[in-house]
Amino acid sequence: MVVEQRPRPRDEVATERVETPAARTTPVSDHPERRSRLVVLAGPTAVGKGTVAAEVRRCHPEVWISVSATTRPPRPGEENGVHYWFVSDEEFDRMVEHGELLEWAVVHKAARYGTPRQPVDLALASGQPAMLEIDLQGARQVRTTMPEALFVFLKPPSWEELVRRLVGRGTESEEERVRRLETAREELAAEGEFDETIVNHEVHDAAEQLVALMAPSPTDL
Ligand code: 5GP
Repeated sequence: MVVEQRPRPRDEVATERVETPAARTTPVSDHPERRSRLVVLAGPTAVGKGTVAAEVRRCHPEVWISVSATTRPPRPGEENGVHYWFVSDEEFDRMVEHGELLEWAVVHKAARYGTPRQPVDLALASGQPAMLEIDLQGARQVRTTMPEALFVFLKPPSWEELVRRLVGRGTESEEERVRRLETAREELAAEGEFDETIVNHEVHDAAEQLVALMAPSPTDL
């Protein structure tokens, strides 16, 4: 599989650079001083990370959002290359072996998910605000390889609300729900590992808070 992000308005330069051998190995910005800072959004299952990321995509097309590779099958309405790159186990193995993933993890003991490395490098080199929406295990891996990234924890207003959202979503079986709630309890305890916390009271508001964190600080200008 050739992982190439679907072109978005400010993505086109980055996509062209994939074609040059130099860019393939060491993506270098024409303006290294403008290299952007990666934002990593994580948080417990069912907190609404995907919904907040979708809201950022809707209201802020200037923000580049990574498309993960996964071995789980698509849900109705999900498109390859848009929601995920849906790959076979063999293809995922190949990506891992070739070092093509910035991080990867088995999520909910069910499927593998990973972030293709090259599109992230290209987006950062082009100076675009860039973000990943990944699970806690993945965020911890990025923390070791890219400690300069900004780690944002998305938190539910309460444990009861998290349970309500997980049950309300209705996309998982009872067994799967119990498994995800166990994971969520452990994940909630990880808040202290993050640079910033956003409480997801309301999706649009959470998305705006996230985008505000991507703005360069006055010292970066
Ligand atoms: P879903 O199957 O519901 O789309 O996602 C399940 C979980 O996988 C979510 O918690 C999501 O954040 C996580 N996830 C999605 N993409 C990645 C990725 O590239 N890496 C890691 N580590 N987790 C991911």
